[in-house]
Amino acid sequence: VVSIHWFRQDLRLGDNPAFERAARSGAILPIYILDDDAAGEWAMGGASRWWLHKALQSLNAQLGGRLRLYRGKATEIVPRLVTHYQANALSWSRCYEPWRMVRDSEIAKHVEEMGCETIRLNGSLLWEPWTIKKKDGGPYKVFTPYYRKGCLQSAAPAVPIAVPSELSFCSALEDDGSVSLDALDLLPEVPWHLSLEAHWDVSEDGAQKALAAFMDGGLGGYKAGRDFPSKFHMSRLSPYLHWGQISPNQVWHAANFAQDAGGLDVDVDHFRSELAWREFSYSLLYYNHDLPKRPLQAKFDGFDWREDFDALTAWQKGQTGIPIVDAGMRELWQTGYMHNRVRMIVASFLVKNLRFHWRHGEEWFWDTLVDADLAANSASWQWVAGCGADAAPYFRIFNPVLQAERFDPDGVYIRKYVPELAALPNKYLFKPWTAPKDILDRAGVQLGQSYPEPVVDLKQSREGALAAFKALS
Ligand code: FAD
Repeated sequence: VVSIHWFRQDLRLGDNPAFERAARSGAILPIYILDDDAAGEWAMGGASRWWLHKALQSLNAQLGGRLRLYRGKATEIVPRLVTHYQANALSWSRCYEPWRMVRDSEIAKHVEEMGCETIRLNGSLLWEPWTIKKKDGGPYKVFTPYYRKGCLQSAAPAVPIAVPSELSFCSALEDDGSVSLDALDLLPEVPWHLSLEAHWDVSEDGAQKALAAFMDGGLGGYKAGRDFPSKFHMSRLSPYLHWGQISPNQVWHAANFAQDAGGLDVDVDHFRSELAWREFSYSLLYYNHDLPKRPLQAKFDGFDWREDFDALTAWQKGQTGIPIVDAGMRELWQTGYMHNRVRMIVASFLVKNLRFHWRHGEEWFWDTLVDADLAANSASWQWVAGCGADAAPYFRIFNPVLQAERFDPDGVYIRKYVPELAALPNKYLFKPWTAPKDILDRAGVQLGQSYPEPVVDLKQSREGALAAFKALS
């Protein structure tokens, strides 16, 4: 009996219910398909492709070199493989992006008509969107009741299952259309990805190590510490969760275990609620397929956005002249990740001070984040822009100087990513344009040369944004 397991956003062997079922059903043919056609405008960005390259490499090693890779339309490749291998079963972990759901139901229908059983299970979420509904049957639009009344009153997340103890594999056949990893062409021609290499162990083992390190040293103090970008209180699990190199159930139960062992009630409760924000984003996307493109609050369709593309380039390159914004954008470029508090600051700056449509930020993040996730990215941009479900109100505009003074009080984070300002005293580090000339000289800073003048006046741009918002309402 041949069982094809189609790996997608579940690039792991542990706690993978669909893979485990496939292993019980027969000899497995593990496959991955790069299907840019079906993804269309949501084809993976550059940082994601780099991560995927590494993830497939490590998954293939775990599978003893047996992972078969394909490139093209999954709607054609999967049925062809079912015939070629005379497969009896096809398994996968469900995905929730609108384009994937359409494609997957077409494939399931097709192969079932061919007489092949499909095994489609949840491997990526704690609660699938349709399991959490209000009493009236509709989806939640506000996070707290979604989580407290919906999720926490529903079935508890399943206890993780182990890697199947016995795995038998189907021998690969000639001419099955498979290609090499290099032929997937996931790495960029200009090797900008090399700086990412130092920051991540892109493997299931790496995910487990990141979880263990966070449980040991990050979870205690998480609630108070998670807003400080220079402290180690973020788990940095987001790319592993996105790619399914770790399951949310493994993370949820590890946190519960830490709570049982050490009584970190407040921190664990807060950490679990952050995991639930991921679930909420998926619920929003599931019930609003236009989430990545259209504001959930339709009135924002008529907002007076600005399009000063020089400022957009400055934002992307971390050259806005606002140190905390530049530090965040450079962290993103160098590591493929940005701390959550700083994501909120740079996003607010783009959407409110520079008054760019949030989709420009969403697209840049899509291309540069290793955790770029259609649900979390679009829900978060809408949240910051004030046009999403349960969003921060538009008129609440972050002041990036005050945010930096509060959350990077010693300037450790800014000095790390904006070294040209490192010698400035803290008093001026967060707003170098206010520093007297002799202090700038002593610190070796020439505004407009070694570091830019601010691309906007923070006060004026704030007022402009508020006026544009007022005109809308
Ligand atoms: P932790 O604090 O350790 O949290 C654990 C996990 O909970 C995270 O790994 C993540 O899966 C989930 N989580 C935490 N906060 C959020 C949140 N606000 N929304 C959804 N899930 C959350 N997250 C992504 O995974 N992909 C994205 O593309 C993405 N884009 C974002 C864009 C903007 C403008 C903003 C403000 C936030 C975005 N986030 C995104 C959410 C959040 O910033 C990251 O999930 C978080 O920084 C990841 O770091 P961590 O794993 O150390 O988080």
